[in-house]
Amino acid sequence: MKVSAAVLTTTGRPAPYRSSRPLVVEELELDPPGPGEALVRIGAAGLCHSDLSVINGVRPRPTPMVLGHEAAGVVEEVGPEVTTVRPGDHVVFSFVPVCGTCVSCQSGRPALCEQGAAANGAGTLLSGARPFRRSNGQPIHHHLGVSGFAERTVSSAASLVLVPDDVPFETAALFGCALVTGVGAVINTARAEPGSSAVVFGLGGVGLSVVMGARLAGCHPIIAVDTAPTKFEVAKRLGATEVIRAGDQAVEAIRDITRGGAHYAFEAVGDADVLAAAYAATRRGGTTVSIGLPHPDQRLTLPALGIVAEERRLIGSYMGSAVPRRDVPRYLALYQAGLLPVDELHSRDVRLAELNAAFDALASGDVVRQTLLFERSTTIRP
Ligand SMILES: [Zn+2]
Ligand SMILES: [Zn+2]
Repeated sequence: MKVSAAVLTTTGRPAPYRSSRPLVVEELELDPPGPGEALVRIGAAGLCHSDLSVINGVRPRPTPMVLGHEAAGVVEEVGPEVTTVRPGDHVVFSFVPVCGTCVSCQSGRPALCEQGAAANGAGTLLSGARPFRRSNGQPIHHHLGVSGFAERTVSSAASLVLVPDDVPFETAALFGCALVTGVGAVINTARAEPGSSAVVFGLGGVGLSVVMGARLAGCHPIIAVDTAPTKFEVAKRLGATEVIRAGDQAVEAIRDITRGGAHYAFEAVGDADVLAAAYAATRRGGTTVSIGLPHPDQRLTLPALGIVAEERRLIGSYMGSAVPRRDVPRYLALYQAGLLPVDELHSRDVRLAELNAAFDALASGDVVRQTLLFERSTTIRP
């Protein structure tokens, strides 16, 4: 089958991407789904900072690659041995395929699935397949088992979570990364209690989802920090009680507001210096949660004594410590009840040919979530 897709040709091209054009729309050959796999027509795919981190080389991945890891669509065909989805089902992708059998999966921690992580690192499906090919036969790598910047993709059924037909694709897609990561960091990883104070550094799609999760958990106050004041209004609408411009005074301001530091500090930027600031903004006995993905060469230096003397915790949160088939339906139900106003994250829709310029906009901090939109969902099943 032939499909149009945005292919990342090489990483590390200089910004602005509207000039250097790291993403090229190509017509690719897509193999039919193999055993345990499904063909999905993409309805919408979000543009996430982790895609940008692959484009600029901060997150090393093999190229060429069809990017996009936050997507929703409709199952069109399933391969042999698939029992969890059927043609016509609406699905959102989990960017870690959950094998179900490794030690992490068996320990109830599928976000750390070992086979999923190995496949994601290699740019393949769980089976090892790379279903996209150029017409000359050259295989194209898969992105986190999803590759949502394409009209259609083939995915492991282990990457798919059913969603109700009446949730628009552009909304459902956000539950695959921003929501599951940000809300999960508060609910699953930190397990923040009502009345505890929270601060989040970085107000992208994930950071703003942390704000929503903190409100859901009953945190107070909820302090939102970013370099871009353009994000402050949306942060307040989502539940932030205070907003602070990132900079030298930010930690002191947080310690003032919280009388000694926040019970929970979340880093959603992906920078070791910001993580150090989040740690400094955490109170005695408090918890610092690392969510953003820093460059692998970055190192974090902390005063060792405080860890023991102040009973401090520094913990990582990958994909919101999610159990995707438990959490995505749960968060979608909260969205449908009006308790997770996800649509506030949506900035604008873009087309395949506009992706390079759209990543310039994401890098500039002018937008929260842009959505590559192929079709709006309907409730009509094929
Ligand atoms: Zn993402
Ligand atoms: Zn596993």
